[in-house]
Amino acid sequence: MSDFPAFLRSSSAWTDLEERLKGDMPPSALALCLPVAFHREVLLEVAGFLLCNDGSRCGICPSCLGWKDDSHPDMIMASQEGPPSVDQCREMSTELLLKPVLSAGRLGVVPFADGLNLNAANSLLKITEEPPEGCRLIFLMEEDRLIPTLRSRVLTVVFPEKEVFSSVHIPSGRAEWTDWLGRVASLDREGFVREVQGLVTALTDRGLYSKASGLSQLIFLANQTHLSVSMMGDMVFLIIEEEYPFESVFDRVW
Ligand SMILES: [Zn+2]
Repeated sequence: MSDFPAFLRSSSAWTDLEERLKGDMPPSALALCLPVAFHREVLLEVAGFLLCNDGSRCGICPSCLGWKDDSHPDMIMASQEGPPSVDQCREMSTELLLKPVLSAGRLGVVPFADGLNLNAANSLLKITEEPPEGCRLIFLMEEDRLIPTLRSRVLTVVFPEKEVFSSVHIPSGRAEWTDWLGRVASLDREGFVREVQGLVTALTDRGLYSKASGLSQLIFLANQTHLSVSMMGDMVFLIIEEEYPFESVFDRVW
């Protein structure tokens, strides 16, 4: 649970949220709105607080010790992939009524909540409105788009992309690129995509739209193909530093 990116941690959205999480009355339902590449990290960070027996992510209570491979017996995911269906939402709600295993209450997680269909969203109204004692809910979204009846029952935290990514430094010059390429070479595919996502926003901020668009296409490609991270790193270098159009980076890298 240590790879929560520093630039997210230093954002004011996170500082405010962390204060609430550490307070006496942490919110019972939270909607977290940020690019999907960071959902896992932010979820693990928030869940660490909510499930800890003294609410501090102490790392030593039975609940904190119950984390294994990013899962916890009291954290119930409504779906593993994509927005949960109405059946999956109901199933999660039923599981949330059961007694917690290690924590003071169970935690339900609704991934891709901005893609919930109306029936699925409606099926969550009751548990959101009257959660069992100690039970909490987290909605993960890329866009701030919950149905109003649900939205009025949750605390929505929007991580403004501009702020979140404003500290991302775009490498420039051979030396910085050598460092950057060396650093990303050790990342896994997800970590690499996060890195590039940061660059896309930083480039967009600076009005460098064609480079940003080239990198967006590269992210798309990263999710579709088996190109190695180091090969894609070279492509990032060509697009940003050498100003190659996306279409021709292939000829160059191949
Ligand atoms: Zn703990």
